[in-house]
Amino acid sequence: MSTDAEEMSEDRRKYEFRKVIEELKEYEGSGTQLVTIYIPPDKQISDVVAHVTQEHSEASNIKSKQTRTNVQDALTSIKDRLRYFDTFPPDNGIVIFSGAVDAGGGQTDMVTRTLESPPEPIQSFRYHCDSNFLTQPLEDMLTDKGLFGLIVLDRREANVGWLKGKRVEPVKSASSLVPGKQRKGGQSAQRFARLRLEAIDNFYQEIAGMADDLFVPKRHEMDGILVGGPSPTKDEFLDGDYLHHELGDLVVGKFDVSYTDESGLHDLVDSAQEVLADQEVMKDKAEMEEFFENLHTGEEATYGFGPTRKNLMMGSVDRLLLSEDLRSDVVIYECPNGHEEYEVVDSRHGDPDHVCSECGEEAEKVDRDDVIDHLMSIAEQRGTETKFISTDFEKGEQLHDAFGGIAGILRYSTGV
Ligand SMILES: [Zn+2]
Repeated sequence: MSTDAEEMSEDRRKYEFRKVIEELKEYEGSGTQLVTIYIPPDKQISDVVAHVTQEHSEASNIKSKQTRTNVQDALTSIKDRLRYFDTFPPDNGIVIFSGAVDAGGGQTDMVTRTLESPPEPIQSFRYHCDSNFLTQPLEDMLTDKGLFGLIVLDRREANVGWLKGKRVEPVKSASSLVPGKQRKGGQSAQRFARLRLEAIDNFYQEIAGMADDLFVPKRHEMDGILVGGPSPTKDEFLDGDYLHHELGDLVVGKFDVSYTDESGLHDLVDSAQEVLADQEVMKDKAEMEEFFENLHTGEEATYGFGPTRKNLMMGSVDRLLLSEDLRSDVVIYECPNGHEEYEVVDSRHGDPDHVCSECGEEAEKVDRDDVIDHLMSIAEQRGTETKFISTDFEKGEQLHDAFGGIAGILRYSTGV
């Protein structure tokens, strides 16, 4: 990872990670010889070195000579990388990938990549040796980070917690003293029913109090609240307006779940998959709606590499919209008369020849850059926000297919 990591915006860093992951996913080893290690921030580097040394000596038992050599080479290379770190890994930890990957025609290439400070803290130490690199934990960190409040309840038990990205975090629980439906001898039926309702009401208030304490301070950052439990308990709870009114507005779905302990929180998230997928693209949808509206009604919209870049340079772009699936490079040319021109090409293709559109002279390539890096670095200098837009909905797909994956919502019309 480049050394100016700290200067990069969070989004740009995520993009850098995504690119490395895409590259790593392509690789395959002919044997079980690609090593991945995830090092959490609280793990001592010396412990990791000891672990790697141990694996190195155990690898001598591998029967295939080629695999044995490859695994040991990977481990040596990892040990070399670990020397660059102090006692503990930086911020959120380190991930190191190393191994001999198939390069076609029976050849192999040694590949080693170090990713420092991923977007979220690495939870646990993992040593993984396989025919592929282990990228899933990193990919999970890069999915759009939703923040949802979770509540599961019945009349006896309740749990509240968070869904952060894909991670469920149980926070608080409560259990009730609500008596069962059978009354004891000597109690009047009416009195029993009243006491029981009172106890239920008290318990709902207690659950709401728990949820309010946890969610109200975060209500502006939250994407929604999911409520689960058996019927009709959860409906009773929601219809009774026990929750703080601003939280009530955040409830995006209620679901039948059978358990109300911590495992119920996981069940709730499983049941809510469809709602969660919708929520994930909702912000993207809103951005694209605004873009199309501006495009049709006024001039406060731009698209395509050239016009968007010009607007960015002028500082007129409020939000830069980039398709998540955009993988292009920009090749920069200069002709003998000093005209600078750009051509956008597929990242996998070479540099095309270019004739200057102003003077017709043959232009020479002076630079080549990833389109997203190129535009985002201008955006950062001009205080423009960048939004990555998923292709999982129609207008997101349109951005990718019809607008070259690049668009901008303008602060004012520029006529460019
Ligand atoms: Zn020219």
